[in-house]
This record gives sequence, structure tokens and C-alpha cells, in this order.
Amino acid sequence: MSTPLLDFDPSAVALPKGHFIGGAYYATDEEQIAVHRPSDGRLLGYIPDASDSTVDFAVSNALHAWKTSGWGTRAPRERARVLTRWAELIDQHAVSLAQLETVSSTRPVAEAYASDVPFTAEAIRFFAELADKLGGDLAATRRDSLGFVSSEPYGVIGAIAPWNFPLSMCSWKCGPALAAGNAVVIKPSEMTPFSTLRLAELAIEAGMPPGILNVVNGRGATTGAALTRHPDIAKVSFTGSTHTGAAIMSAAAMHGTKPVTLELGGKSPQLVFERVADLEHTARCIARGFTANGGQACVAGTRLIAHKNIAEPLIEAVKRQLMPIAPGPLWCSTTAYAPIINRTQARRIESLINDSRAAGAEVIFGGGFFEGTDDGYFHRPTLLANVTADTPAVRQEIFGPVLTVQTFDDEEEGITLAGHPTYGLAAGVHTSDIGQAMRAMRRIAAGTIWVNRYGRSGDMIIPTGGFKQSGIGKDLGRQALEASMRHKSVLIDFDPA
Ligand code: NAD
Repeated sequence: MSTPLLDFDPSAVALPKGHFIGGAYYATDEEQIAVHRPSDGRLLGYIPDASDSTVDFAVSNALHAWKTSGWGTRAPRERARVLTRWAELIDQHAVSLAQLETVSSTRPVAEAYASDVPFTAEAIRFFAELADKLGGDLAATRRDSLGFVSSEPYGVIGAIAPWNFPLSMCSWKCGPALAAGNAVVIKPSEMTPFSTLRLAELAIEAGMPPGILNVVNGRGATTGAALTRHPDIAKVSFTGSTHTGAAIMSAAAMHGTKPVTLELGGKSPQLVFERVADLEHTARCIARGFTANGGQACVAGTRLIAHKNIAEPLIEAVKRQLMPIAPGPLWCSTTAYAPIINRTQARRIESLINDSRAAGAEVIFGGGFFEGTDDGYFHRPTLLANVTADTPAVRQEIFGPVLTVQTFDDEEEGITLAGHPTYGLAAGVHTSDIGQAMRAMRRIAAGTIWVNRYGRSGDMIIPTGGFKQSGIGKDLGRQALEASMRHKSVLIDFDPA
């Protein structure tokens, strides 16, 4: 199939407005939040900042739909049919969804079309296929008893998403929750609200009962906080920064001791041992690992830890990979590099680089922003050497295309450096020695280990989630479906004496 013409005029894209509650758009006269285009900083449109009463209206709608529509009580394969149809509609609307994703987020239209949209559909399809596969367990009990564990939906799940991959994040949150029979109220990021609204529209077209999937827009401190503490939200599924995750965990504890799934930040290493099969391949993994989406990915591999005998040729090979990277408007299909989401985040990146330089770090490639991009902030891919475990750029998540470089003498030192005191989201291990790869895999405390590659595949069965302050629980995989259900233990004495 040939790729359709993807270039488009961003000012001609029709933007959904308001909230999506009970199967329809819901307009309010709440304060409006301006949404900007990251490529050039221009104003794109507005979304409302949902008040407590709008959040309450959304949650009440969701609870009512959950109790009356039969979504949670029907056979899982019937839910699966709706979810499969939803995935098909997402595929059918791939061009318009990719364009909607591109206007407010940092996703270049060609990547949104080739990867974000199909991955979104695949994630929903995966949970549709899994819906009737996890039913609970039969317990080994006395012969005159029957013990079993029955898995049931929670009711209404509150989902809160970040701005960096809005379509995918919506499918990772809503796919398992809906397949398990819950209703959902999702709050996308106030910076990237539009594609989530469109997905909710398509869910209705696919046959999902109105009120089962609702979208409320607004800021974190207002709408997100109101959603977290709402008494009828039975569980909160959050993806975002570690700082916000802690606030949500605390609020969920204070307002009903609610369970939480938290997918948080990272500072992931790319550990390269002395012997790798193909240095150029390793360099590609490293370059792509820290520059994809302009470095604004939770799993970005932002710490290169290289054996001293390979470090120099490896760094040269990484630089060669970085040379051709160039900025461009996200709505041109030739653009492959993402801008920084906004000025605040751009300044934060610069300030972390400056703090690191003040602590002795040296910029050995890149630094600063590409010029001539209006008010868009395209940060040059940047390498920082002369760093230690205490350098700010090594300790803190930067969320920009900045790679720190450390070297080591032996396996023990390499594995030690790969560990991080705070984060444990992902790690890349590059070596042609399988024993060495397995030893590193066992010892690095991270939720995902990639060996001789860096980045997810399309295999939705492989879950994602962090150790330590990178999170609690998993998105994707059967683990995400299980975490969308609560488990009831039943013991029946069927021959009571
Ligand atoms: P963020 O924490 O600032 O915001 C995430 C969401 O939480 C937004 O919708 C925001 O409005 C909301 N929010 C903010 N304060 C809130 C509060 N007090 N109560 C309720 N909701 C609140 O994160 P971000 O800047 O949007 O996203 C970037 C972060 O997300 C990075 O740290 C990145 O690593 C992380 N992330 C993690 C994963 C993962 O799978 N582990 C995936 C993507 C992004």
C-alpha cells in the first residue's frame, strides 16, 4: 500500500472542542486554556479547564453507563467485538488522526502515521483479543469445597495521560480498562488534548455505549486532581512525571485508599561492552535512543556507558548518526525530528546543561537550539562528557536530546554505572557475549532490558513499566488487563454437615 500524501496545512485542521461526556461533546463556559503548536509556537486553539462539577458530571455519567449499559456484565467477547471495530476505525482514519496528533504534539506527521496511529490500533486490538483469556483461577481446596478467584472490573477508572505520545497513551490506558469491563474517564494533557477527543468519538461509532469512555480536559492541578479524588473513581491509572505520580499516589491514598498504576520518568542507560557485533548498529541504537521524539520519551536512553576500549570509535559513529538531524515543520512529511514541547521545557533543558557544565561537564557535540525555526525550540542533539554520577544531567531526567557519556574498565564497573539511584525504567545492553548480556540483565534494576536493540517493538504482549521511582505496575501485556480488574476470592462448601 502506498503512503498517502501526508503534508497538510495545520491551520486547516478542524479541532474538537470541549469535553466528551456521555457519548457527546459537552461545552462549558469554564476558563479556556490556550494550546500552542510546538513547531512554531503559534496559537492553535483552546480547551476548557474542567471544574470539579464537570469532573463530577463525567464520573456520574460513567458510573451510570457502567451500571446500566451492561458493558461490565456482558460476555468479554462482546466487548472485544466493539474494541476490534474501534481499532479498525482508527486504522481507517489514520491520516486525519495523524494530522490531529501532529498539530499539538511533538510527533512528526510521517511518524504519527507510520507508527503512533497503527500502534494505537494494535494496542486496542491486543486487549480485545485478550478480553476473554483471563478469567480467574480455580483453587486447590478440599473435595467438598470449591474455591475460585473471580476477576471483576472495578467500575470507573480515572486515567491521566502525559503530552508526549497522546494517541498511544490513550490506548495503553483505555484498552485494558475497557476490555476488563470498566468505564473510563480520561484526562489528556492540557497541551495535547485533541486526538484523545477524536478517539472517544470513534469509540461511539464502533458501538461503545455512551458514557463508557469520557474525556475531560483541563490542567493537572484542577481537573487531574479533581478526578483523582472523586469518590466514584475506583482506581487511578497515571502516566507522567515522577513528581506528579507521587502527588497522585498521595491523593489517591487520602481519598479512598485507591489503587494506582504509575508509569513515571526515567534516566535509562545504554551499556556498551567491549565486543559488539556491529558498531554502526549500536551507534544507531544509541542515537535513536536519545533523540527519538526530541528526547521526550520516558524510556529515552540518555546515559551512554561505554567500555573504554570502544568509547572513542563508538562516539564518532554516534556523531555520524546525529549529523543529518535537522528541524522542520511537523506537518511536512519529510520532517523526522521533534521540537521541544514548549519554551518552559526548552529553558529547563538549557538550565540542566548549564548546571552540568558548571559541575565540570563538557559539551563534545551539539549544544543549543537550531536556528531559523520561528518560535519552535528544536534542540540540537547534544553529547556531554566529563560527567560523574553526581552531574545534574546524569542524575535528573532532562526530557530533551542530551546524552551523557561515561566510560568503564570492566564488567563490574559498567553494570554498577548502569544502575541509577532514583530511576529504573529501561536499559539497553550491547554485547556479542550472551553470558555478559544475561549477567547485566539480571543485575540492572529496570522494568525493561533491551539487548542489542533500543526501543519497543510492536509486541503488545511485552509490558512496560518501571522499577523504583519510575513507577508501579505495568502498561500493556496481560499484566495491564489483570491490573484493570479486582480479584474476588470465593469459597463454597457444597456439602455442609
Ligand atoms: P506531568 O507529570 O507534568 O503531567 C502528566 C499528566 O498529569 C498531565 O495530564 C497533567 O495535567 C496531569 N497532572 C499534573 N499535575 C497533576 C495533579 N496534581 N493531579 C492530577 N493530575 C496532574 O508529565 P508530562 O510533562 O505531561 O509528561 C512527561 C513525563 O511523563 C516524563 O517524566 C516522562 O518520563 C513521563 N512518561 C512516562 C511514561 C512511562 O510509560 N513510564 C510514558 C510517557 C511519559
